[in-house]
Amino acid sequence: MVSKVFSENLRLRLLMLLWGSSICVKCLAQTLDMPQSTISRHLAVLRNVGIIRSERKNKHVYYRIDISGDHATLKQDLLAVYQRQLITMDPYRSDMKALIEQSHFCGSGCVIGKKTHKGDTGEEADAHGNAKN
Ligand SMILES: [Zn+2]
Repeated sequence: MVSKVFSENLRLRLLMLLWGSSICVKCLAQTLDMPQSTISRHLAVLRNVGIIRSERKNKHVYYRIDISGDHATLKQDLLAVYQRQLITMDPYRSDMKALIEQSHFCGSGCVIGKKTHKGDTGEEADAHGNAKN
């Protein structure tokens, strides 16, 4: 699961954009300057391995990181490591700037850039030190 997700640069870029955010496909596609069909295909892979999930609200579908369920701690730790290292580097840093600009025009309710996942994923969110079992 892990290698499948992280070996593909575009998926990593998507994950970094989705870190702490809830974003529609249109914004992701425009931010990365790629067709929505390409973005959707990669999002589907990420969703199938259980690292993101989608939510439909008012005709729009939003994607967000899902650190609940199996391997919650592993997912959270890995993402945190990647995020810390990558967010200051391109293309991830410029992707994030582009996303913030893009989201001003989206109008569909994308939520960009919450700092943590606390609260979004229920009790699994603070899986940091406290293993859930
Ligand atoms: Zn949007």
